[in-house]
Order: sequence, then C-alpha cells, then structure tokens
Amino acid sequence: MTQTVLEVRGLTRRFGAFKAVDGVDLDIAEGEIHALIGPNGAGKTTCFNLLTGSLPASSGTIRLRGETISGLGMDRIAQRGLVRSYQISSIFPDFTALNNVRFALQQGRRTNFDFWRSELSLTGLNDAAMGLLDDLGLSDWAEVRAGDLPYGRKRALEIATTLALDPQVLLLDEPTSGMGREDIGRVTDLIRKVAAGRTVVMVEHNLPVVKGLCERVTVLARGQVIARGTYDEVAGDPRVVEAYLGK
Ligand code: ADP
Repeated sequence: MTQTVLEVRGLTRRFGAFKAVDGVDLDIAEGEIHALIGPNGAGKTTCFNLLTGSLPASSGTIRLRGETISGLGMDRIAQRGLVRSYQISSIFPDFTALNNVRFALQQGRRTNFDFWRSELSLTGLNDAAMGLLDDLGLSDWAEVRAGDLPYGRKRALEIATTLALDPQVLLLDEPTSGMGREDIGRVTDLIRKVAAGRTVVMVEHNLPVVKGLCERVTVLARGQVIARGTYDEVAGDPRVVEAYLGK
C-alpha cells in the first residue's frame, strides 16, 4: 500500500480578513509527482510558503511522515527532508556551477564533509558535486560561471543545488517557467529522473507538462481545493474549467 508522506489538514493563511489559503487538505503519496495547479491568485505560492515554513499558518496541520512540522522554522523543516527549489534564482552567479553545488553540499542535511581539514573529504565533496552535475546533464558546464549559464541550464543548476540537500520531498516552484520547448523537454526529463526515490510536489502552469509528468493533481481556486485526481479527471471537471475561464 502506498504511504502518505505529506499530510495537510485544514491549512489556512489569512492576510487581514482575506484567506489566501482556506482549509486546504492534501495527501501526498510516497514517491509520486504531484502537481498543484490553479489560476493566478489561487493560493499556490502561499501554500508552498506554508509547507516550507517560510510563512506561518493561521491554522491547520502539516505532517511529514507522521511528524508534525507546522510551526517549525524553514531550516528544521529542510533538515527533516522537505526542501524547496526556488523560482527566483537562488544560485551564486559569480561561482562556477561546480562551486555552487559544492557549497550546497557543504550545507547538506546528511553529508558530513570536513572540507577544511581533509584531502580525502575534499575529493569526496568534488566527486559528489560532479555526480550531481552529471545527473542534471551539467558536467560539461562545471567550470562555467553560473551567471553565464543559459537559462535552462541555470534552472537545472538550481535543481542540482536543491538535490544537494538530499530532500525526501522536493517542492518545485514553476520549474519550466520562462522556458522554450527544448528546455522544457530537458527539465521534464530531469524531473522524472530526480523523482526516482523521492516525492515531488510542483506548482506548474504548463498543463501539458503536468499531464505528462504528474500522477495526481490538486486544483486550487480562491484558496480552496476545488478538484483532485489524475490530470484527465480534473481537466474534465466543470469547476476547474470555470475557475480557469474565470466565470
Ligand atoms: P498563486 O501562487 O496561486 O498565484 P498566491 O499564493 O501568490 O497565489 O496568492 C494568493 C492570494 O493571496 C492573492 O490574492 C494574493 O494577492 C494574496 N497574497 C499573497 N501574499 C500576500 C501578502 N503577503 N499579503 C496580502 N495578500 C497576499
């Protein structure tokens, strides 16, 4: 039986009298790729901010593998394995791609490289960083300044630095936004690859990407869940069509 890795109940966030997220329940199964979709202003970003602890909830609970994480700070939530990759660039443009990943690995949750003292661990750090770059198709770009990478490669590097934290649950915020068709194809393949052995929850506007990649979809509108199921199930739901057409 599939296990629920992330269980959200009654998640609510008010801004004054306005509820940006209003009583959201989510059950994310171990190993799935799950999409959170909905029209602009639906509450997707706020939901992500609540899940990662970057914004406190007004009410509701979030459990990661049965342990309550709501109320914990971002760092402690990341240490427990729920990590977010940012839509806005979080990489250091003046570092090479390799050094960005090495830096992220040094902050890693499970890695224990004693970078400053041991030659051996320096080799280990380099090998691990090169391994991650290789996984994301970036080995030829290792020595390139991150700020000079083409856009799609930069986004792949962001995913690499996130993976350096060894997340069990990876939250991806619009991983294909601003990309042309070729980069979208490449990033979609990468997500499929990095999802092996972990759980992915993604906010994504590109519906063909969602259809091709995600086992299950939750649709938000005006802060509430209006549909959940497979892509085909939710796409045929009149409430979803109405929310997208803004009727
Ligand atoms: P989405 O990501 O689905 O486009 P958001 O989560 O960004 O939606 O926003 C949901 C609603 O909450 C929007 O109406 C937005 O204006 C509002 N909102 C988000 N953050 C704040 C804030 N810090 N203060 C007030 N309103 C906010």
